Amino acid sequence: MERTHRNAELNKNNVGEKVVLLGWVSKRRNLGSILFIDLRDRSGIIQVMVKEPDKVPDVRNEYVIQVKGTVSLREVANTKMKTGEIEVIADEINVINTAKLTPLIIADETDALEDTRLKYRYLDLRRPCMQRYFDIRDQIKITVHKYLHEHQFIEIETPMLCASSPEGAKEYLVPSRLHHGSFYALPQSPQMFKQLLMVGGFERYYQIARCFRDEDLRADRQPDFTQIDIETSFLDQNQFLTLMEGLIKEIFKNTVGYDVPLPLRQMTYKEAMERFGSDKPDTRFAIELHDLKEVFTNTAFEAYKTSEAIKGLCVPGVAKETSRKVIDNLTLEAKKFGLGGLAVLKYENNELAGSFNKFLSDDERNDLIKSLDAKEGDIIIIAAGNYNRVTPLLGAIRLQYGKSLGLIKPNTYDLLWVIDFPMFERDVESGEIVATHHPFTRPRDEDLKYLDEDPTKALSYAYDIVINGYEAGGGTLRIYDQDVQRKIFRVLGLSDEEITKKFGYFVEALQYGTPPHAGMAYGLDRLAMILGGTDNIRDVIAFPKNLAGVCPMSGAPTEVTQKQLDDLGIKVEIE
Ligand code: ASP
Repeated sequence: MERTHRNAELNKNNVGEKVVLLGWVSKRRNLGSILFIDLRDRSGIIQVMVKEPDKVPDVRNEYVIQVKGTVSLREVANTKMKTGEIEVIADEINVINTAKLTPLIIADETDALEDTRLKYRYLDLRRPCMQRYFDIRDQIKITVHKYLHEHQFIEIETPMLCASSPEGAKEYLVPSRLHHGSFYALPQSPQMFKQLLMVGGFERYYQIARCFRDEDLRADRQPDFTQIDIETSFLDQNQFLTLMEGLIKEIFKNTVGYDVPLPLRQMTYKEAMERFGSDKPDTRFAIELHDLKEVFTNTAFEAYKTSEAIKGLCVPGVAKETSRKVIDNLTLEAKKFGLGGLAVLKYENNELAGSFNKFLSDDERNDLIKSLDAKEGDIIIIAAGNYNRVTPLLGAIRLQYGKSLGLIKPNTYDLLWVIDFPMFERDVESGEIVATHHPFTRPRDEDLKYLDEDPTKALSYAYDIVINGYEAGGGTLRIYDQDVQRKIFRVLGLSDEEITKKFGYFVEALQYGTPPHAGMAYGLDRLAMILGGTDNIRDVIAFPKNLAGVCPMSGAPTEVTQKQLDDLGIKVEIE
């Protein structure tokens, strides 16, 4: 089709030129004697002026049109538009296709419900802000390909139809037509394959890999998502992290023009939990958790006498607005974390007040104020009980206040590594031992001794990259010794038989000259979300699922025909 330029390529220098443009009608204003059309194409919007509206066909919003005309200087420039200094005076307008009235407004500002946006995603994607998200996403991928190839990586695809392998989350299963009763699993990540590529001698692998986890969805999670998946041989932890920092620096430079200062700081998991109550701490604001065990050594409050952990934090300047309702909401939050409640004290008129105050001695009051550095008008929040409940609760409260009080400066970036994760953790509900990262993670050499006596004491060579409080990626050094690998499986409660059944090929491979190897995966969607400046992961995925795991556009998941089920040898009984 005839087209001389894309809209945003035109500027003052083109004034006087004859041009032919293609695009969608973004807006029109008919002033009777003249008609203005905002023409949108992939590059941007340009104003078209039609001097004799009667002589051109009628156009409506979202019609696809061709405009032939002459570039002219505008009398009054629109500084908000990239092409705001010029307009195109139309000689001819051709309608290429018409459009129905769209169910949502195609503009950055939209009041459409998210399900409407997802149902008509192809229209939603026309909005300039959405196009910008995908430009950022694309730029991340271009940078990944370039940087990793410059550093001797090779891109290799791994299978989508895999053997089931319990890595943590639930898997999506695909029934086999040829082997009734058997299932493929969609990969949670290419973890074992990429390790086997190291055994296969490639030394540096990457893949922009689709991954699938059947988990409950949240604003920053999707059932199918994309990872920048990486594995290397022969690097120690710091060599590997340096290589990965170089990549993240390039990504920030090429997407948002931010120069990430390197090296990134490293914080141990323990410190992150102690100070921020999270293994993905947002360290852009100052509220921190403090240990209050000592303050309550001689407490008269029964429940505190036996508490494993007593921790608190001080929220600046909110005493006045801390109503009964606010306190009730905080208590509800504590219940969500499996605690009976929490204590809230206001520091006003130089003294503490609140229902918990009566349990405190004068010394405890003074110590509390001192330990938390509380000032007039602040509140103190204290939680006590199981360490693994108390710390994340206070971490979540800290984050809520950080956001609601506007303590986080917009457009600031905070990047750090969290390292030295525990190798295992106990599932809070079942008490079972589970791998914190995954079972291929190498325990620290000095902690191997704990595997027999108390495995939960062992730390691992694991690292997460945390950006603005999001886990943007994570990885580990891997076990390359089959005996250690077997031992880890046993700690996780697998019998020899189960190990052979589930991981036999993998354990076998470790016997044929496995190099020491290390890797990680960046969450591409999360990175795009952070760099795009949205907190909704669905904004950076072209056709996402909603929070119920449904695609409102295609209707997935859908029922299938009896014939399809018969072919697969499947009988469905719905409970
Ligand atoms: N496979 C891991 C994950 O998906 C990342 C890694 O250890 O490389 O989280």
